[in-house]
This record gives sequence, structure tokens and C-alpha cells, in this order.
Amino acid sequence: MKRTCAILTALLLAPLAAWPAAGAPPQKPNIIIILADDLGYGDLGCYGHPTIRTPHLDRMAREGLRFTSFYSAAEVCTPSRAALLTGRYPVRSGMAHDQFRVLRNVSTGHLPEGEITLAELLKQRGYATGCIGKWHLGVWANNPAGHPRHHGFDFCFGLPHSNDMDPVPGIPREVHSSTNPEAKWFNAPLFEGEKLIEQPADQTMLTRRYTEQAVRFIREQKDGPFFLYFPHTFPHTPIFASEQFRGKSPRGRYGDVVEEIDWSVGRVLETLRETGRDRNTFVFFTSDNGPWLIRGLAGGSAGLLRDGKGSTWEGGMRVPGIAWMPGKIPAGGTCRELAVTMDLFTTCATWAGAQPPSDRPLDGRDITPLLTAAGSVERDVFCYYRGTRLFAARRGQWKAHFITQAAYGAPKPETHEPPLLFDLEADPGESFNVAADHPDVIAQITAAVARHRATLTPVPNQLEATTKK
Ligand code: MG
Repeated sequence: MKRTCAILTALLLAPLAAWPAAGAPPQKPNIIIILADDLGYGDLGCYGHPTIRTPHLDRMAREGLRFTSFYSAAEVCTPSRAALLTGRYPVRSGMAHDQFRVLRNVSTGHLPEGEITLAELLKQRGYATGCIGKWHLGVWANNPAGHPRHHGFDFCFGLPHSNDMDPVPGIPREVHSSTNPEAKWFNAPLFEGEKLIEQPADQTMLTRRYTEQAVRFIREQKDGPFFLYFPHTFPHTPIFASEQFRGKSPRGRYGDVVEEIDWSVGRVLETLRETGRDRNTFVFFTSDNGPWLIRGLAGGSAGLLRDGKGSTWEGGMRVPGIAWMPGKIPAGGTCRELAVTMDLFTTCATWAGAQPPSDRPLDGRDITPLLTAAGSVERDVFCYYRGTRLFAARRGQWKAHFITQAAYGAPKPETHEPPLLFDLEADPGESFNVAADHPDVIAQITAAVARHRATLTPVPNQLEATTKK
């Protein structure tokens, strides 16, 4: 496989940044995963947005590694988070098995106890664990078993689900798509631990309060390693920003919101520098799925990619991915190789000296060779699911669509035989179907999908909703 990770700058200028040995993982680093919600591939300065200002994320990319083919493992919130925290396609855990593919505020389902999260693995290795932000893997007011503390997190602060899920009756539909929503329409409950501390939460202050909690959590971890999972509520709609950022971005309210998240990333990285932990903390920034295009100006942009959230076109699942660990991850790199949120599970578990579970299929790979520019990572195929249905698959530079479907509205799935085929390196926007020219490639992808399917076993739906409340 050709080497696609190119270290563009600064590597030769940073001899102290070498790993102990080529490709060797660090020992028990602190780990921070920052997850934006519905942030598109094209929404950051370092991914080409012309007017959204993201100086802190841009600096993080300059000091670390920027992926150009990084994927969420699902096209919407709940299954994407399940995959990140378990290292497994959500079709394996029952977290993609519903018409809407997400938990709602009336749901009693949750991430099954039998799933092993990254937090649980790291906790066994002596890590302090915190979840700050939007959980969306269980609504604990309906079912306490869905609380983050039952899935490996010592501390939690934030919302159990999306910020639009508990609207007051009679909410006008246009409020969801407005760039100037009114907080009174949404009853988002804010929790610390299991205690409800505010409802409706003042959403204009959520990013700021999450950040204060993250900074406090980092400062308090003086004795041992820590894992901070930091899933932001925004820029999922309705979008809110604090007074400091409101009305400031040329991109409007959406830009205000992303710029405040960028500020938050800066605060986290600055706190690591101030406390002398910038050299033994791995920070990864990404998004749970693509932009919510039907929200108009209140939604983001997938840049040159096709479609957005809810879709298995590239814009629905290819997202920004920035890795940072000065002295360990060489600065200024760009990685074109495919990597997935599920890889963070396997990679971080390996670094912590944890034994990933061997009694179940794992889909994440250890991407240390990509992070260190030491080499490539073998991957048979990456599968794009919409709910429980495998719509598309990528192998190397090629992507085959077996089924396509518009993300929202009243769409019907369309089956393709032979599948559509796109060369994602030549055509990342998926504009030119080249299936007729490459039957051999289609045969290889089809065979790889068959190998993947052979590892699946039926599991019950964990997303069932009730009328409880
Ligand atoms: Mg989302």
C-alpha cells in the first residue's frame, strides 16, 4: 500500500519530538477526545472555510496531524457515539436499530451493559474518567442504566441527549432552522452527575460551562492519567453562542458557535500547557457526523463533499480529524489515509496498556503508525451504514454505493446493481460514477463486504422509544 502520510513541515526541526522508537506508543498518556456535533468537513479554517475563524484548531493542526479521510462510523448522533466509545460498528451493539437511528428524550434504551467502552478499559488501567457535554447513549431520567457512570465515567456534566429534543408543545418548525432561535422553545435538561441542575438549560452558556468544567477536570487530575471525553452540544441546532461570540462571525450565528468551540479547544490546550501536561496528553478533535444541511444557514458545510448528516455520501460521515500530542505526534503533518473514530478506541486502549476485548469483533485499528508517520494501517474495508443497512463501502481509494438515499424529506432508498463506484482520490465529491470501467474493483469491494457481513450477528434494537414522561 502506498504511503500516504506526508509530514509536510517541521519534522526535521523537532528532534526532541521523536518517539522512543519508531512507531512505539507512549505509556499511559492522558487522553482527551473532543467531539463536535454536526460539524461539517468544510467548517474549519484549516479545512478551507473562508470566513469561520478557528485559530486554535488551526494551530492544533499545525502542531499535530490533520486527517483528510477521517470518518465517523455513522451518519447520525447516537450510533456514531456508540461506535467511538466501543470501537465497533453500531450495528453490532443494537445502537443503530431504529427508524430515526437516535435515542430521543422519551427513550428508555441505552448502550448495552455488555458493551465495553473506552472509559471502562481506561478506568481499569487507573485512569480518572470524565464525560462533559452531550451523552446521547442513554436518557437516564427514563432509565438509570443509561447514565455515563454505568459505562465507565466517574464524572459527568452535560445533557443526556440533543438540545432540540425536549421542545415545548407547539414549537414552530422554523425555529429549528433559525439562526436566531429563542431559548424558551427548548427544555434541555443540564445535569451534573445524576443531579438535574438546570432546565431549561441556558444554551447560550453551554459551551462556556462545558469548557469551565473541562479545565477544572484537567487541573484536578494531579496524580494519575485521565481520560476526558468532551462531546460538545453544538453546532447541532438550535445553535446558541455566548455574548462574547454572538454577532461576531462573518458566517453569522453558525460561525459564532463554531468560533466559540474553537475558543474552547484553545482553553483545553492552554490548560495542558500551563499544567505541564501538553507533552503527555493525546488530544483528538473530530465531529460525530456531517453537517445538518436541511437547517439552512443554521447548519454547516461539508465543503467539497456530497450531502451531509443522515447520508452515506461522503459529506454525511467524512469529518475533520485533528490529532495533537507535541513531542509524540510530529508537527505539521497531513494524513490522507483512511481512519475512523473507532480507531481511537483501539489506539488509546493500546497506549494505556489495556487489553481490548477478544471475545467480540472489534472494528477499530491501532492507528499509531499513521499518528507517528511510521507507516500505513491495513484495513480490508470501511462500511457506511444507514441504520442497520449497509449502503456503501470504501476500500482504498474506491467507494461503492449499493444503496443511496436522500438524507431527509420523504426519501426512498434506491438500490444500485451494479453499485455506483467513485474514485475518492480523484473525485472526492462523488460526481462521476466509474463502475463500468472497474468491474474488478467492484468485485473486490463486494468480496470485502461479504467478509465483513460474515462477522455480524443479529442483536436486539436498543433504541426503542416509549411514551414515558
Ligand atoms: Mg450529530
